[in-house]
Amino acid sequence: MLRRMNTFSGQKLAAVVKELENFAPTSWAEKWDNVGLLIEPHREKQIKKILLTNDLTEPVVKEALEKEVELIISYHPPIFKPLTRITQSHWKERVVAACLANDIALYSPHTAWDKKSGGVNDWLSKAVNILSIRPLEPELGAPPGTGSGRYIETKMELSQVVESLQKRIKNSVHVALAVGHTPKTLIQSVGICAGSGASLLKGIQADLIITGEMSHHEVLEFTHNNTTVLLCNHSNSERGFLHEFCPILAKSLNEECLVFVSEEDEDPLVTVASDINKELSAFVDVYKQLDPA
Ligand SMILES: [Zn+2]
Repeated sequence: MLRRMNTFSGQKLAAVVKELENFAPTSWAEKWDNVGLLIEPHREKQIKKILLTNDLTEPVVKEALEKEVELIISYHPPIFKPLTRITQSHWKERVVAACLANDIALYSPHTAWDKKSGGVNDWLSKAVNILSIRPLEPELGAPPGTGSGRYIETKMELSQVVESLQKRIKNSVHVALAVGHTPKTLIQSVGICAGSGASLLKGIQADLIITGEMSHHEVLEFTHNNTTVLLCNHSNSERGFLHEFCPILAKSLNEECLVFVSEEDEDPLVTVASDINKELSAFVDVYKQLDPA
């Protein structure tokens, strides 16, 4: 990386932020969100190295310092609730302090990227063979395909979707079968929301929903409404988009900045799974006992 560094002339922070806004205007973000440029260094530096991460954890900050980046793009906003102090007593405060002390700029796109056509939800949707796709809640005044969540028409067996999703997120998937569903059930409609999708997906009529996380009681609501639930763990349902975005950003900056994805960023939950078909069959057996018909 160091040898290649000499070839990067870099760009001004304002020019990089402009490209990020061009990709997904922060005006699309939810009202409750906190997006855009969150830290602007006191001493302006030419932006030559840009680190992409899903979450700005302390290991990721350490990586940013070691790799001497000038800008971190963190999908989730590292500053969300107002900070009343910046001390060393809490990890979130230490993260902000480290950026400030080292003149590292910080930008967060969050729900603007969720809504973007070709953004986070569309990345996750590619786990499904798509016959048709539309946002669950279209964004008014934005280009077609922009909006929250996705509703997809498809024709796939449930076990095929599970397998395909596992490959997409490079991780194991939690499966909550709807009463009466089996691994062979033909899935014709899918609701998708990367991250925590229960409130957006609530009440939709679909054979299957895919999201990152959901509470026990929310899962039961879906499985008793003929909807099977696939959960990938929150950030696993989002992180893969960074790899898709990396070359897009580099190109929009005329390859004048080195853009790369963090090696330290990962979901805090690790799922230990055995053979997925065996597990699904076990679920089906339980349901057969409940309903002999
Ligand atoms: Zn999220």
